[in-house]
Amino acid sequence: MGLLDRAGARLTARPEDAEILVVNTCSFIDTAKQESIDTILEMAQFKTSGSARKLIVAGCLVERYRDEIRKSIPEVDAVVGTGELEAILEAAGLAAPAAASPGLFNILAGGSAETRPGQESQAGTHKEPSRAEGDLREEQGRFKRDDWQGAAHMLPTYLYDETTPRYLTTPKSSAYIKIAEGCDHPCTFCVIPNLRGKFRSRRFESVVAEARQLVARGVREITLIGQDTTCYGEDLGLKDGLATLLDALAGIEGLRWLRFLYAYPNRITGKLLETIARHDNICKYLDVPLQHASPDVLKRMKRGAGAEIFLKTLEKVRAAVPGIALRTSFIVGFPGESAEEFAALEEFIGAARFDWLGVFNYSDEEGSGAFSLDAKVPKRTIEARKRRLMRLQQSISKRAKQQWVGREVVVLAEGESEETPLLWEGRTQFHAPEIDGKVYINDFGELAELEPGRFYRAEITEAHEYDVVAKVLAGPL
Ligand code: SF4
Repeated sequence: MGLLDRAGARLTARPEDAEILVVNTCSFIDTAKQESIDTILEMAQFKTSGSARKLIVAGCLVERYRDEIRKSIPEVDAVVGTGELEAILEAAGLAAPAAASPGLFNILAGGSAETRPGQESQAGTHKEPSRAEGDLREEQGRFKRDDWQGAAHMLPTYLYDETTPRYLTTPKSSAYIKIAEGCDHPCTFCVIPNLRGKFRSRRFESVVAEARQLVARGVREITLIGQDTTCYGEDLGLKDGLATLLDALAGIEGLRWLRFLYAYPNRITGKLLETIARHDNICKYLDVPLQHASPDVLKRMKRGAGAEIFLKTLEKVRAAVPGIALRTSFIVGFPGESAEEFAALEEFIGAARFDWLGVFNYSDEEGSGAFSLDAKVPKRTIEARKRRLMRLQQSISKRAKQQWVGREVVVLAEGESEETPLLWEGRTQFHAPEIDGKVYINDFGELAELEPGRFYRAEITEAHEYDVVAKVLAGPL
């Protein structure tokens, strides 16, 4: 979007007004693929009923089904993979900005999960050395796409930098920064490395420069993302790369909240925790997807560890950063997941008491290591197991949220609630944007109104299963 905007395109959120439609896709699990395809088909209709002249499909679905998309959906005029972002200009007829006549654009995100705001505007070729782990995995066939018909394009190697134009679609006070791209881990259920390529970090100075630019534009909350943020800097020869980066970013004046998502469990170092604890503007929040708790399932997933080790890690985290909010996600129905293995996961969830928890159904993906495993779990069992875990977490969350009542917190006011204009919505440092529960504000205290994007001191007055209700005490801060 940043590249198109700089080339003179006008962006619109209304597909019926657009001359060129761009659907940004995801394809790492079934539901994401389906959502992407549904969106492409929906947009294709605007070529006959609206003013659209061109339909461009971008993103991960293109990395995986490049030829298939063009063959099966003739309305698609061009495809742009994740490794060839600048090709969006040529696809849109804006390759030579001075000569081109800018059109009106509609860009939609199809699919979900790993594709988050901030990933769209990548440019520039990455020239840094790769990691030994990535090279080894490549030799072992980790990034192969041989089973994918149509995935003819080379593995993506691109990374954006601080000079790449960005067009923010997040509320004005918040932004994501992608600090690394790709992944070298061997998780057998996951095709993201095949889609995104080998792990590569953005240059340290580039991330800091981008953060400074964002804060100068009024951003007050930065969320660092990447497939595995805790590997940051390993390919650049940095030791404790993420902790060092957080240290540097926390020093930026005007940045009130800084957080990172997607930590790998065995890379949560003492230095990292100490850094989170030391800075007031680093959110006391850790998102560490664990995927399972049974050692046997984790072994088949090629992730290792298990409930016992994880509980020790969580104890270490909570001791180093008192009051920290913990988020995780699990996969249910991995091939061969027995009733006992599932029970081990339930028991672990009961003991670990996560603040936020997501559950994904196992999705059998061609090209993943688990695709060839026997003993696939029936869909009905997978659904039932998911429901069980969600119910369990609901009761854990309900009890935990009750403890919040009476607490004073700083809330970032986001705006009127989508459900009713009588309530406002906000978040504390313990809520990451978009994924966790909400803080509903039903009492503005002495204030006549609130301003979106500003921080307020508030008191939690009520708790529900996932959400809480708050009253404003003072602000804006
Ligand atoms: S860490 Fe594992 S699950 Fe996450 S992107 Fe890498 S391979 Fe996939």
